[in-house]
Amino acid sequence: MSDEPILLTPGPLTTHPDTRRAMLRDWGSRDPAFIALTAEMRQRLLAVANGAASHVAVPVQGSGTFIVEAAIATLVAPGQKLLVLANGAYGERMVAIARRMGREVAALRWPEDRPVEPARVAAALRADPAVTHVALVHCETTTGILNPLAETAAVVAEAGRRFLLDAMSSFGALALDLGAVPVTAVLASSNKCLEGVPGIGFALVAKDALEGAEGNSPSTSLDLHAQWRGFEKDGQWRFTPPVQVVAALVEALRRLEAEGGPAARRARYQANFDTLQAGMRRLGFALYLDEAVQAPIIATFRMPADGSLAFRPFYEALAARGFLIYPGKLTQGESFRIGCIGAIGPEVFERLLRAVEAVLAAG
Ligand SMILES: *Cc1c(COP(=O)(O)O)cnc(C)c1O
Repeated sequence: MSDEPILLTPGPLTTHPDTRRAMLRDWGSRDPAFIALTAEMRQRLLAVANGAASHVAVPVQGSGTFIVEAAIATLVAPGQKLLVLANGAYGERMVAIARRMGREVAALRWPEDRPVEPARVAAALRADPAVTHVALVHCETTTGILNPLAETAAVVAEAGRRFLLDAMSSFGALALDLGAVPVTAVLASSNKCLEGVPGIGFALVAKDALEGAEGNSPSTSLDLHAQWRGFEKDGQWRFTPPVQVVAALVEALRRLEAEGGPAARRARYQANFDTLQAGMRRLGFALYLDEAVQAPIIATFRMPADGSLAFRPFYEALAARGFLIYPGKLTQGESFRIGCIGAIGPEVFERLLRAVEAVLAAG
């Protein structure tokens, strides 16, 4: 439908019509056809990160935060200690979750515009032998900053600790090879770079870590070990699955493969970002981050310093022209964000730029 808005957000985001069409049927959750669909989904999720030899895919009903909570509750046992590497709101959320789950937790922090530094992580692990697990946010969606995954994973593995990766806003677009990068658990969701609809969080968990995690979680529904055992037993979800979301995610995963996998998707998002960034600069908007640390996922722009523009009227004027942008999440300074992900290409960003120009001219 032409009057549907374009979602320039970090998810839910603009999906392909075929992905939405995949939801136009009902599935019996215990029927062999749906069991096969679930199996295909789990197998395709592993394949995206080359994890089939070492990891298992465990989906959970809910948003991304549900899988982060389930993973911390299941994989960090009582008495163990989590070190969260934080340079934004999603790192801080992991700290809060671990605390709430009654786990011992410490945070190593960086300013929001600075990436995590692996050397500081190595020093922190040397200084605190009680830390058993380290958590990193791959792309911190708060700003769009890219954290150094391979280098951090290497440092954590070298120190003999387990590594949890919040890959929520990178999975499916930024390359991840579980055969080469040591990650205990990768956490992501259906509605970001995979371009599915919201409703599923999932973890790719190293089999040896999951096997030893029975009974760790204080929660019945957010228990990755029990959820995994359920799938192993009969291929079925333990509790009512979001059947249409599964169908849409399988279609979205088939589309990812047809597009050429994460490398091709990243290239499209990069073209989106480049178009956006060049055009916004021309219109006088400065990118918040240094380009060297910017991921092609979501861009944070500063509001003009002269106070000539406020977020709410700017949002509403763009919404009236069919584009939904996103508020900023910086702890300091007025900003807004524009997502570069979803089933959209650079031509959409050309149209957006014309809309921004028109809104400024009407100002
Ligand atoms: C989106 C996101 C999450 C999860 O958010 P939900 O709103 O629960 O889906 C977690 N971490 C990061 C980095 C994210 O971008």
